Amino acid sequence: MGLLLILVVSVATFFYQFNNLPSLIPYQAYFKGSIKPASYSISKKAGPQNLIATYMGTSTILISDGQTAIMSDGFFTRPSFWDLLWGEISPNKALIKEALLQMNVNNLAAVIPVHSHHDHAMDAPEVALQTGAMLVGSESSANIGRGWGLAEKQIKVVTSQQPLQFGQFKVRLITSEHAVAPEFIEKLTGAGQTLNQPMTFPAQLSDFKEGGSYSVFLEHPLGNVLIHGSAGFKKLALEGVRADVVFLGIAGLGIKTASYQQEYFNEVVSRVGATRVVPVHWDDFTHSFHEPLQPMSKAVDDFEGAMNFIIEKTQNDKALSLHMMGKLDTLQLYGG
Ligand SMILES: [Zn+2]
Repeated sequence: MGLLLILVVSVATFFYQFNNLPSLIPYQAYFKGSIKPASYSISKKAGPQNLIATYMGTSTILISDGQTAIMSDGFFTRPSFWDLLWGEISPNKALIKEALLQMNVNNLAAVIPVHSHHDHAMDAPEVALQTGAMLVGSESSANIGRGWGLAEKQIKVVTSQQPLQFGQFKVRLITSEHAVAPEFIEKLTGAGQTLNQPMTFPAQLSDFKEGGSYSVFLEHPLGNVLIHGSAGFKKLALEGVRADVVFLGIAGLGIKTASYQQEYFNEVVSRVGATRVVPVHWDDFTHSFHEPLQPMSKAVDDFEGAMNFIIEKTQNDKALSLHMMGKLDTLQLYGG
């Protein structure tokens, strides 16, 4: 009877917390850096004058200089919590088409999953099919592509630090670490494992393997950008990297210890000499693409804890500013 009571109370608490979603209102001031996509038009003849980022939740970011565009992840399908637990998941072609249209995607040269979990890599092959982009990443991401029918000529498996040139972008993936999760989640999501054969679709959540985690480093004549999707790090991995702008993954950061948070920030933001930090992967990726971005539920993460930490870090450093981006927000990173 006692055990049953504990079980009932635990389940009730989880579901209460599950629906207990942090508010974005306290952080509104940080969303103000955005400009509307309408003001973004660049003559193709004039050469790149602006580097613009467009955000679509999780760590899906489009970076464009008007001539060439690069996208991290390209994740739009966002299967629901219940589909992840008990259903089967596949890229939603119509939704991806709609998202690419809304993001005004053209001249997409590469789509780059930061690792091969479903919330980063699942849709990338379909994005590549619809845009003609190259799928760039780990062997596991390549196998998701092969399983979805993407031709080998549109897949590029890279090693850490291997440079690739797309227009004026020099792109390198740099080996990092995934944030450590509770053991049952690590098992469910194939932490440290590789997907060794083409993925079969529709797939289950547990079919996706981490496949190695990367920071994506974009060097461009207008300025450099670092996209760091998962809140894990490898000591000194970013030694020698310089980037004014860092897109910083904060999923799970709020529930880490204070010393972990400090070290993460030092290794990913301070080490590269960033002056602007844009938190990403803070939204609940089980919420539909058609809804506004919503911070991760209090049952699984501490968004407020992570934000308080980042706000304190940026307030203590006059050279560093904090920007938040909502769905489809654009941010001018460099240029006129
Ligand atoms: Zn992951």
